[in-house]
Amino acid sequence: MDFTLSPEIEELRRRVGEFVQDNCIPLESPRESFDEHENIPLEKLAGLRDKAKVAGLWAPQMPKELGGMGLSMTEQAVIYEAANFSIFGPAALNCAAPDDGNMRLLWMVGSDAQKEKWLQPIIDGKVRSAFVMTEPHPGSGSDPAGMMRTKAEKKGDKWVVHGHKWFITGAGASTHFILIARTSHDPRNGLSAFLFHKDQPGWEIVRKVPIMGPEEHGGHCELRFDGLEIPEENLLMKVGDGLRATQIRLGPARLTHCMRWLGMSERAMSIAAEYVKDRESFGTTLAEHEGVQWMLGEAAMNIHTGRLLTMYAAWKLDQGDRARKEVSMAKVQVAETLNKTVDTCIQLCGARGYSRDTLLEWMYRYARQAQLVDGASEVHKMIMSRFFIKEGRDFWSWDA
Ligand SMILES: Cc1cc2nc3c(=O)[nH]c(=O)nc-3n(C[C@H](O)[C@H](O)[C@H](O)COP(=O)(O)OP(=O)(O)OC[C@H]3O[C@@H](n4cnc5c(N)ncnc54)[C@H](O)[C@@H]3O)c2cc1C
Repeated sequence: MDFTLSPEIEELRRRVGEFVQDNCIPLESPRESFDEHENIPLEKLAGLRDKAKVAGLWAPQMPKELGGMGLSMTEQAVIYEAANFSIFGPAALNCAAPDDGNMRLLWMVGSDAQKEKWLQPIIDGKVRSAFVMTEPHPGSGSDPAGMMRTKAEKKGDKWVVHGHKWFITGAGASTHFILIARTSHDPRNGLSAFLFHKDQPGWEIVRKVPIMGPEEHGGHCELRFDGLEIPEENLLMKVGDGLRATQIRLGPARLTHCMRWLGMSERAMSIAAEYVKDRESFGTTLAEHEGVQWMLGEAAMNIHTGRLLTMYAAWKLDQGDRARKEVSMAKVQVAETLNKTVDTCIQLCGARGYSRDTLLEWMYRYARQAQLVDGASEVHKMIMSRFFIKEGRDFWSWDA
């Protein structure tokens, strides 16, 4: 693959950078004005989103005819990274999780009627969405196909849902939900995907699960389903396609997490760079100490390694490949890089890094989830190992 950016994408990257610098970064302080999720208050976000729409920087992942920017995955890699130089950038441009992955799934597999009803309002920023899969013990987490207990049973012309879910990001502020539930005991085709609206009876939010880090609007919720009725027209794909829908959603969604996390890692580095260039110890700036150089050099290299893995997986997806092992490699490496980079930057900023005077402590608490969400790192390593055992040395073959 050729890593050269087209003049149009380079120009777009520059414009996103400018938008983030001028509009998003000024809202990151004072921290006292953050909302209960430690996120941007919704009224401020609405203002940012209006500006992003006017600037033509809206929904980079969606086709132009639906109001998006129509970018390929490799182009998105450039833009998402630039957007997440501010912690508010992705939400401002409507490319933050979980709407990002939900829009992509609905666009890829929804019928025309489903796209109009369930997708368009998310693209337009009128509603938020949630993806409802994970369950508390003894239900499914890492192994949804084998362990899912939430059931949808066909009664007449409706599906009736009973079950228990948790860690559903954004559920407290969402209107459109994508639900994965068991419809049979078939090991490959036992799950199905459904759409439901927040105002339908038969389900409730039991609680918002308190977490260690800042969170998306609506929090991470525990849900109970007790007779939610879903009409046949709100089945997404066919009966038995739930696992397939999950894989279609999660491949690109994991990679767009990587794109954003790289932007956040770069921001952490810029905060540390500002400090070590000016701050002195033992007669010279911190940046002149070899020990500091090794820390910064290693972090810069890790970020670049993550960018190459991410760009390569994005390129594979653009070729129509599912890029399963490539996405897994990027996800594990970039999640680890984000954690290590922010940790290094805190260390380099000394006591200030541990304070709330910079965003580093916010990022540090946020970063830990990266090694868990959308598949724990160990599960991705299991996938890579399975590919290696099957492919042998071909694991590393180039496309010819
Ligand atoms: C912040 C956050 C947001 C989330 N948002 C959503 C959401 O919007 N929707 C949703 O449906 N889910 C969501 N999740 C859930 C997330 O997808 C699950 O946490 C993840 O899939 C792991 O499932 P689990 O937590 O049940 O871990 P478990 O399956 O209980 O696994 C626990 C640990 O065991 C180890 N492990 C598991 N399997 C293996 C294996 N095969 N080999 C080696 N080690 C293994 C791993 O270290 C793993 O972390 C979210 C989670 C977090 C933390």
